[in-house]
Amino acid sequence: MALGDMSMPDYDWTGGNLPTFVSHLECSLTGERYPADTLHGLSRAGRPLLVRYDLEGVRRALTREALAERPQSLWRYRELLPVRRPENVLSLGEVVTPLVSLPRLAGGGELLVKDEGRLPTGSFKARGLVLAVSMAKELGVRHMAMPTNGNAGAAMAAYCARAGMEATVFCPDDTPEVNVREIAMQGAQVYLVDGLIDDCGKLVAEGEKTIGWFNCSTLREPYRIEGKKTMGLELAEQLGWEVPDVIFYPTGGGTGIIGMWKAFDELEALGWIGAKRPRMVVVQAEGCAPMVKAWEDGVEHAPRWPDAHTFAAGIRVPQAVGDFLILRAVRDSGGWAVAVSDDKIAAAWREVAAAEGLLLCPEGAATYAAYKEAVADGRVRPGERAVLFNCASGLKYTMPEAGTRLKLGTPIDREHLRRPAAAR
Ligand SMILES: *Cc1c(COP(=O)(O)O)cnc(C)c1O
Repeated sequence: MALGDMSMPDYDWTGGNLPTFVSHLECSLTGERYPADTLHGLSRAGRPLLVRYDLEGVRRALTREALAERPQSLWRYRELLPVRRPENVLSLGEVVTPLVSLPRLAGGGELLVKDEGRLPTGSFKARGLVLAVSMAKELGVRHMAMPTNGNAGAAMAAYCARAGMEATVFCPDDTPEVNVREIAMQGAQVYLVDGLIDDCGKLVAEGEKTIGWFNCSTLREPYRIEGKKTMGLELAEQLGWEVPDVIFYPTGGGTGIIGMWKAFDELEALGWIGAKRPRMVVVQAEGCAPMVKAWEDGVEHAPRWPDAHTFAAGIRVPQAVGDFLILRAVRDSGGWAVAVSDDKIAAAWREVAAAEGLLLCPEGAATYAAYKEAVADGRVRPGERAVLFNCASGLKYTMPEAGTRLKLGTPIDREHLRRPAAAR
């Protein structure tokens, strides 16, 4: 297989199963063990299950040098992923996403954006869902369902289409039109619900019993975290097996924070990175900031946020089942949680695009607003390396209206044409 062919992961298929190292699953709250290779939802304690690996075995099987030779795809980390059988590996070309530097906006340090908008379906939900759907296929699931604010449903629909599985998606009725349509285009049945994402989640949970579909809600199945974990693996590898000083993450259900935190622990166990961890910063919108409030209150669990609202739909998540895992990563890392207003998100969105030519998604822009504030108040110090997560392509969002109309055959204002855009 050609090295550059991103449509298929370049496995060394020597027949039979992949060399995988999953040993068991574990309740993230109680530590109770569960067997691998059977279908799971939440643990008996009602909390997410984490996948555990024989990391000693991985250490013997894979070196950083061997890894460096592999194609630039998420599947390069296959020893640290749960899929066992090659025929269950789904792929739409999960590229290693670039770290784009923003030199003009870096406040005396180094500012990098991990641009996840380059992934299939235009968002990092592809990372989680390619693993969740591949594993569902491996475990015999025929029909998947989920609640979504847009991007997760689109990614699930895409990979279910790839796998030949049924997909049913419930979204709040104000979900961006582009998401609703892309979900439908990719073969899923999509319903618009006059409520929030957790209302949609209830419909999915009901259908588990009545319809028999598999509930693929955030953190309710164990494998999306493993997909999101690859963000941490990639980041460390891209930075020469160094972690950055601080990571700003736009947090909804928190799969990414939890996944990256897990990635760093596994990399340390492999001896590939040291004990240093980035300060993990949870960024939320002022109109929906349950994690920020819980962090400020010093509690382990975050109550449901009433009347959640923000135009950054990906982080409009009023309650997260993995709240304590998110908060632990923030606290153990010496990070913090911060809310930014929609006005600041909108201003940051324009600023990064105009100053650096990088069109973020609003959720990604929220991280820049939080970064700017942290540079100003000294929480990010001069000379530090910060990474912002841009989780989706800015092109998936409705942008402010623009364009000056010109009528052919009438005089053109040449002074207007001469002025730089910023002065008009
Ligand atoms: C899902 C999503 C988020 C939140 O990610 P989590 O890991 O679930 O917290 C942020 N931004 C966008 C664009 C998303 O689609």
